[in-house]
Amino acid sequence: MGKVYNISKNVGLGLLVLGVSAAVTIIGLSIAYDKQRAKTQGKPGDEADTGSTSIPPTTPFTPREPWDYYRLPDSLVPLTYNVTLWPRLKPNADNMYIFTGHSSVVFRCKKETDLILIHANKLNFTMYGGNHAKLSGQGEAAAPAIRSTWLVVRTQYLVVQLSSKLAVGKSYELYTEFRGELADDLEGFYRSEYMDDGVKKVVATSQMQATYARKAFPCFDEPAMKANFSVTIIHERGTVALSNGKEIDSSDSIRDNVQVTVTAFEPTPKMSTYILAFVVCEFGYIQSNDSNLLIRIWARKKALNDGQGNYALNVTGPILQFYERYYNATYPLSKSDQIALPDFNAGAMENWGLVTYRETALLYDSNLSSTGNKERVATVISHELAHMWFGNLVTLQWWNDLWLNEGFASYVEYLGVDFVEPTWNIKDYIILYDVQKVFAIDALASSHPLSRKEEEVNTPAEISEMFNTISYNKGAAVLRMLSEFLSEPVFAKGLSVGNSNTKKHYFHLLCGPSELNQESDMGKVYNISKNVGLGLLVLGVSAAVTIIGLSIAYDKQRAKTQGKPGDEADTGSTSIPPTTPFTPREPWDYYRLPDSLVPLTYNVTLWPRLKPNADNMYIFTGHSSVVFRCKKETDLILIHANKLNFTMYGGNHAKLSGQGEAAAPAIRSTWLVVRTQYLVVQLSSKLAVGKSYELYTEFRGELADDLEGFYRSEYMDDGVKKVVATSQMQATYARKAFPCFDEPAMKANFSVTIIHERGTVALSNGKEIDSSDSIRDNVQVTVTAFEPTPKMSTYILAFVVCEFGYIQSNDSNLLIRIWARKKALNDGQGNYALNVTGPILQFYERYYNATYPLSKSDQIALPDFNAGAMENWGLVTYRETALLYDSNLSSTGNKERVATVISHELAHMWFGNLVTLQWWNDLWLNEGFASYVEYLGVDFVEPTWNIKDYIILYDVQKVFAIDALASSHPLSRKEEEVNTPAEISEMFNTISYNKGAAVLRMLSEFLSEPVFAKGLSSYLNEFAYSNTVHTDLWGHLQQAVADTPDLHIPCSVRDIMNRWTLQMGFPVVTINTRTGGISQKHFLLDPDSKVDRPSQFNYTWFVPIKWMKNGVDQQQYWLLNKTDTHAQMRVSGQEWVLANTNVSGYFRINYDADNWDRLLSQLDTSHQALSVMNRAQIIDDAFNLARAKLIPTTLALRTTQYLSKERDYIPWASALRNLRYYILMFDRTEVYGPLQAYLKKQIEPLFEYFETVTTNWTKTPIEHSDQYNQINAVWMACSMGVESCRKQVSSWFRLWMGNPDHNPIPSDLKATVYCSAIGFGGAEEWDFAWKMFQNASLASEASRLRSALACTKTPWLLNRYLEYTLDPNKIRKQDVTSTIQSIANNVIGMPLAWNFVRAKWSYIFQQYGRGSFSFSNLISGITLRFSTEFELQELKKFKEENLHVGFGSATMALEQAIEKTTANIKWVTENKADVLSWFTEQTVK
Ligand SMILES: [Zn+2]
Repeated sequence: MGKVYNISKNVGLGLLVLGVSAAVTIIGLSIAYDKQRAKTQGKPGDEADTGSTSIPPTTPFTPREPWDYYRLPDSLVPLTYNVTLWPRLKPNADNMYIFTGHSSVVFRCKKETDLILIHANKLNFTMYGGNHAKLSGQGEAAAPAIRSTWLVVRTQYLVVQLSSKLAVGKSYELYTEFRGELADDLEGFYRSEYMDDGVKKVVATSQMQATYARKAFPCFDEPAMKANFSVTIIHERGTVALSNGKEIDSSDSIRDNVQVTVTAFEPTPKMSTYILAFVVCEFGYIQSNDSNLLIRIWARKKALNDGQGNYALNVTGPILQFYERYYNATYPLSKSDQIALPDFNAGAMENWGLVTYRETALLYDSNLSSTGNKERVATVISHELAHMWFGNLVTLQWWNDLWLNEGFASYVEYLGVDFVEPTWNIKDYIILYDVQKVFAIDALASSHPLSRKEEEVNTPAEISEMFNTISYNKGAAVLRMLSEFLSEPVFAKGLSVGNSNTKKHYFHLLCGPSELNQESDMGKVYNISKNVGLGLLVLGVSAAVTIIGLSIAYDKQRAKTQGKPGDEADTGSTSIPPTTPFTPREPWDYYRLPDSLVPLTYNVTLWPRLKPNADNMYIFTGHSSVVFRCKKETDLILIHANKLNFTMYGGNHAKLSGQGEAAAPAIRSTWLVVRTQYLVVQLSSKLAVGKSYELYTEFRGELADDLEGFYRSEYMDDGVKKVVATSQMQATYARKAFPCFDEPAMKANFSVTIIHERGTVALSNGKEIDSSDSIRDNVQVTVTAFEPTPKMSTYILAFVVCEFGYIQSNDSNLLIRIWARKKALNDGQGNYALNVTGPILQFYERYYNATYPLSKSDQIALPDFNAGAMENWGLVTYRETALLYDSNLSSTGNKERVATVISHELAHMWFGNLVTLQWWNDLWLNEGFASYVEYLGVDFVEPTWNIKDYIILYDVQKVFAIDALASSHPLSRKEEEVNTPAEISEMFNTISYNKGAAVLRMLSEFLSEPVFAKGLSSYLNEFAYSNTVHTDLWGHLQQAVADTPDLHIPCSVRDIMNRWTLQMGFPVVTINTRTGGISQKHFLLDPDSKVDRPSQFNYTWFVPIKWMKNGVDQQQYWLLNKTDTHAQMRVSGQEWVLANTNVSGYFRINYDADNWDRLLSQLDTSHQALSVMNRAQIIDDAFNLARAKLIPTTLALRTTQYLSKERDYIPWASALRNLRYYILMFDRTEVYGPLQAYLKKQIEPLFEYFETVTTNWTKTPIEHSDQYNQINAVWMACSMGVESCRKQVSSWFRLWMGNPDHNPIPSDLKATVYCSAIGFGGAEEWDFAWKMFQNASLASEASRLRSALACTKTPWLLNRYLEYTLDPNKIRKQDVTSTIQSIANNVIGMPLAWNFVRAKWSYIFQQYGRGSFSFSNLISGITLRFSTEFELQELKKFKEENLHVGFGSATMALEQAIEKTTANIKWVTENKADVLSWFTEQTVK
């Protein structure tokens, strides 16, 4: 094929006018295009082109059957084909262009088989007795009967299953009749149209390379499957038919009552399918009389009459003669046709004997065309004719070597042109056209080698990827270099020597001339210098485009290395592994441990080095022995280990000994498996069941700053850099610290010893029992040993070495310590945590009715920590902001966060740590549980906060928003669906945490708190130190129900809860207060979204409905069916019904219009008759019901009218959260003016209220709710243009700038004031805040400033800030995603952040995407405002382009973003006018 990339026609044409950068774009696009195809075609198991938006199962497709593989088996080889095709150049009755045909292929059986696989794509077959084909034997061979036949769409096969086997050495004939579409898709046998004097003409033509011959007739469609083809074409009288061979017979005939001409062609030499060609047209031709060879140029008659074919005709003969001499081989065919097609995708295609061209590549008008046109014609002809030998006569075995074929033609084309146009000095131009062009690309670190392994190229998409700039231009450049250093004559001689004209050798020669073959290895060792690439960066936009395009190409390859099963993940190797899907065969191929061994005890010693070694690397060393018991006979030990370097013992990674009288088998061999993260120990004989053994290893690992396993964190202490060694094992990182059976059910006792620098302190789960100074490796160290842990999982292990201090409580028998930087402790920042820890632990002891199981409780604040906190048993790790609180500097929110996170983590000490779920699929129960009971713990220590109300804001409403999408997923997954570390990491999502909390709260509400606690307590006591599945909890709660005579629930806990955990989403319950009718329906935010995920319960729930009438609580009602009637809910007059009181159930509620009106009028007259939660619920339900088109948008807006009287936080927060959507959708439109005016009117009374309450902002409000709501008041008042707010904020900030050591801004208002002031200000304010950020000693102050810096309205400041996120010295790694997200929140910053993330996705993902919990927020944050078709397309493109990179924990967020954007577009279209007029009316009044 020529050097033009495959672009869909329409995309390509518009771009051509854009010049250089457009050309570059085209490369990028064609790559993107191919990638898209790669997605639909390349991945195993995908159904191509279904257009479905459902998330496919992540279990990889495992090829099992021969037809599952893209490559043909080697059992059959084709010998001859007889193909007859009849293209119809007029549409049929269905207005479709078709072709019909029949074909027989004679093939020989090389290996016994009862299966015929032959390629066929998009063909409709005539059936014979239910079969797609007929089979007969050749000669004396008898054909087996056909048992069945079928088509495989994915791998494009017609499969013929025989009743018995074919005989080796015998030949058979397979006959088929078929029809296909003569589509205008430029693939296979296709249709092209052009206008001729105002009349539309249709041409049937073909493009078989690389895998489209199978779309014209069934064939063994691989280049090595060479055969002789006898072609017959039936065509309309008056048209001409062409094919590879010379026409040998042409006669008129009648077929199907149509007058036709039947043209037969001489059989081809043995050749590949991809260079077949068929054309039917009304073209004319011109012919050369100079040579013995028939040379014709075919084109539109008018073009030929204008002489446009003359130049091509003139140069063809001489170029062929040149190659005959150069190759020392005569042209192998009896004719050379070249045809100019009006509609042709590639530049040209080297079909043997019938080369097809774009018109611009073959036609030249000496009056009208440019020199460039002429050069192009000569060059393309020369390129294609070079293939007549190199490529067609001798063909490469498989597409992986395509570079040699195309690189070769791209090189020698210059020689051919030079021969016919010696004055052009064309050979010099290779520097421009190939060398420099590809230098630009190949100088990027993202380039790739020329050569690929055969097994890496399988699918049509992978084959199509081979046609790229590297193959053509670099191929040409390195072959030229080869020719240069060998000298031209030697090069030509080698080419010629390897050639042969004897048909017998065609097949053997497929591997190419031996000299060339050796040298083809050059591509593999060709190193690229990174530095060359830098020069490109100055070239501006077009270069940037190139870089993006290229990095896509490169990343596509990496996707293959990392994403697919069977790959070696994380090796950092640039080699491209095979794309054939991985089939687990061996025990170590599976991610889950076998059940043959169970660990009992570990003895682990670790020595982290807090100073870099000679190689400037931070490392740790260690040794570990694990005693395990054999439960099932096995000669294999599989133990997890990741990124550890082992000390070898006689060639083995480990030593094994028996315990007691058990004798250990000898180790036969050991090895590491990178993909599944195992150390494998193969024994010479079997371990004995019931006996125990000890496996000993010594190892070293990197103490990297990767926040995973045993890792390094750094912080500045009085200008001195300090290093902390710390750990994060959840979910699968313990194996990175020492070899272990790293699954939650593999509980054991751990005895830990840490070796550490003198003067540092070492911590672990247990209490330190011995600490003594020692000398190791000539270093003075301290060796600290810890008491053995109780039986526990690896994921809650923790190790820390630091120079922190601690404060300790003396109130209880339990040792409670808060560890942190000494300075922070001296400032009293640990006091609050210390004060609440003891009481919270005591609360849980009573709540669970179980004592705290450990002898100490350490909590430590780490400067660099990925999650908010981690519940390591006895040594909980926190971000500083989640543990430290300064009563002078921190806000109420900070304090609440500290209390909440501590309460969450301590809840896990029992639920999660003492009793652990069997496997990560039940993670929702662990996290949902802690996320629910954390409120109870906080409420115990801070009873005035009414914190339990806040669950509706923090969890219920938050997850409602996500769970109302068709792309949501159920809480619970099956154990077998969660295997790989990536799948485990995906479990840590909002659904698990927030919906988990919401449904467990509902459960507790309908059981009542005492019954819930009772069931919980018996569960924890029964399963202490062991593992459970979620149904174990249901069982214990059921028992608690049974033990409570007054409690009646309509069915079992399990039956009720299954409906909430096994199906996604939640219902909207509608009450008609006129009839008492009540019904439920799956609530979807977008009513038109399609739910692809089936539910065994048909999306109906058992719904516990607490409700009230006129403010009086009524008896709980259970809705068990889709519809029901509850007479008590029928009301009249001024009576109103309010259901789901306090949002105790996880569902939304809708009413008839009258009841809505009565509820609104109640709010208007006396809103305090309803609880704070119910006020919030009315607003939140109304806005979401309006989104779902269940009520009018204006009804939702009406729920905000009473807000001018509302002073409470939760209703305001609910309203602002919903109005925020209106702000986001409209802050770039004309709606924003009236909207701002309305909200200004609503917020002003609240702002004034707080001016009063705070005595002109000099005092702190007393109520927790007020402390929060003043923040809303200031934030909204400033945003909506309340002048006194702007003044107040700016004056505070100016005061602070004037005296940086004295910050006059009230702690609670700091975040808001910083953001508003920086938004009102310019570079001066920004730089001041940046300085304050860098100097901030309190983490939460730093975090406020970091967010506020994103509030500037100045684009260059925002862009500079985005760049800062890539520098860990400016923005800590843990803060990168949230910083980018803050910038995206800003209406000015949003497009800047989006560009930034798109441009750097691969990097950002590699750095932050793995296992980072906050990562999904990045995508959802950036796309919040997306509400135009253009933005949707951008988002989809982003998804396609980065599929290979991956999205990690953002995978679901991305699906949701696409769905949300689609919904936003629709919503804005449908509501903009109403909303604009409603807001306008409100302000006119
Ligand atoms: Zn948790």
